[in-house]
Amino acid sequence: MTKIPTIETIAPPAELAKSAAATGPGFAELPLSAAMLANLDRLNYTVMTPIQAASLPPALEGRDLIAQAKTGSGKTAAFAIPLLAKLDSSRFDIQALVLCPTRELADQVTQELRRLARAEDNIKILTLAGGVMMRGQRTSLEHGAHIAVGTPGRIMDLLDRGNLNLEHVNTLVLDEADRMLDMGFYDDIAYVAKRVPTERQTLMFSATYPEGIAKLSAQFLKNPQRITVESQHDSGKIRQRFYEVADSDRLHTVSHLLNHYRPVSTLAFCNTKHQCKALAELLQAQGFSALALHGELEQRDRDQVLVQFANRSCSVLVATDVAARGLDIAQLEAVINVDVTPEPELHIHRIGRTGRGEHEGWALSLASPKEMGRVSRIEDEQNRRMEWLDVATLTPVSDEPLIPPMATLQIQVERKEKIRAGDVLGALTGDGGIDGQNVGKISISAFSTYVAVKREVARAALTHLAATKIKGKTVRVRLL
Ligand code: ADP
Ligand code: MG
Repeated sequence: MTKIPTIETIAPPAELAKSAAATGPGFAELPLSAAMLANLDRLNYTVMTPIQAASLPPALEGRDLIAQAKTGSGKTAAFAIPLLAKLDSSRFDIQALVLCPTRELADQVTQELRRLARAEDNIKILTLAGGVMMRGQRTSLEHGAHIAVGTPGRIMDLLDRGNLNLEHVNTLVLDEADRMLDMGFYDDIAYVAKRVPTERQTLMFSATYPEGIAKLSAQFLKNPQRITVESQHDSGKIRQRFYEVADSDRLHTVSHLLNHYRPVSTLAFCNTKHQCKALAELLQAQGFSALALHGELEQRDRDQVLVQFANRSCSVLVATDVAARGLDIAQLEAVINVDVTPEPELHIHRIGRTGRGEHEGWALSLASPKEMGRVSRIEDEQNRRMEWLDVATLTPVSDEPLIPPMATLQIQVERKEKIRAGDVLGALTGDGGIDGQNVGKISISAFSTYVAVKREVARAALTHLAATKIKGKTVRVRLL
């Protein structure tokens, strides 16, 4: 019924298994329903992450929070669990509102909320972000929903047109508040917050603590508890190197970095959209599998880009900071700073995308003589001197081109047709199909279904799927 584009990504079994070994406080210590605990168990959430362990007890007591922790630390569940615990699914009112800086982030939050909401039947969650026609969102709102996740701008528009009623909201979440402020959303956030009843719980999450956060907090939070979990990244895991380049060599040097380090997945940051496009085009011309992510893409194309990068069938994603904000990509071997960011905090944000969990990652930066001032500010922020190497050391370590390990098959079946990951897996592996070991991520979006398969078997998988029925129907499939 909803036409809200979100992507549901189902992690393959191998990835789900890895979290089991950790130790730390479990969720069972919290005052949660048996159904919620069972669902967390099913999701393989065995222990709380540090930000969850610190935030969940006060949040479940109803306290307002300002919580600060780096990307990938599990902040979504830290606010999703408390808001779901308060939710009355028998009342068809919007009871929780989550504000996010970008559409991608709103999609991701919705996706995580849906997973966590499975403990209870029929919790309706809507994504209300720009870039999509308002009509579908209005229709969905008319049908009723319990939770709205959206960007401040679109939420404001829907409020102004009288399509959105926030009178019954009892939890307001500001996710990635620092970024919303960076993007100039202060007034929009204030506008929306004033339309939510003052009798409410407000949970604010942020990776950093700039001035505006204190101002927001003073204006909209009540006696908040401030929680900080180590925001500097564990420097042992991220190996940083800087290379000095002339501006005219900058884009060409990226391919030398790729051929030398040979990372499977690389996120390359540019300061402008224009630079993004130019680099993606150059890399493609040089034979790399590269895609650009920037604000001008249509939702459908953007989904497709993200899916291909996350499932490892694209080697390089070239992005602006705004477009990449909040992307949750589990394994990233390298981050390349094609341009040095003028904001030292952003640099830390960028490189924090690699070297996560038990993995090591490279953070490689190109700097022109003009950018040395920016580099000094980054050194001050990180409180250390950077390692510099000569571009002449960037020798290719193999004659083979850098090729991604996976390929993506696009199946023309939409989420509303109630397709499930199991249907796709069954069709691919059943009846003389490919081995399940060769199947990677399966993503079902509002527009399409995508499945990653090992590149070697991509053709065979395509042929097999084209001759197979999914849910009793022949489907159209193509290799991206
Ligand atoms: P953040 O918002 O801090 O960047 P997310 O909420 O997006 O982080 O979480 C990052 C990833 O960690 C997600 O894939 C999420 O499903 C997973 N995750 C969160 N909490 C847990 C947990 N307690 N155990 C295992 N995985 C978790
Ligand atoms: Mg987040």
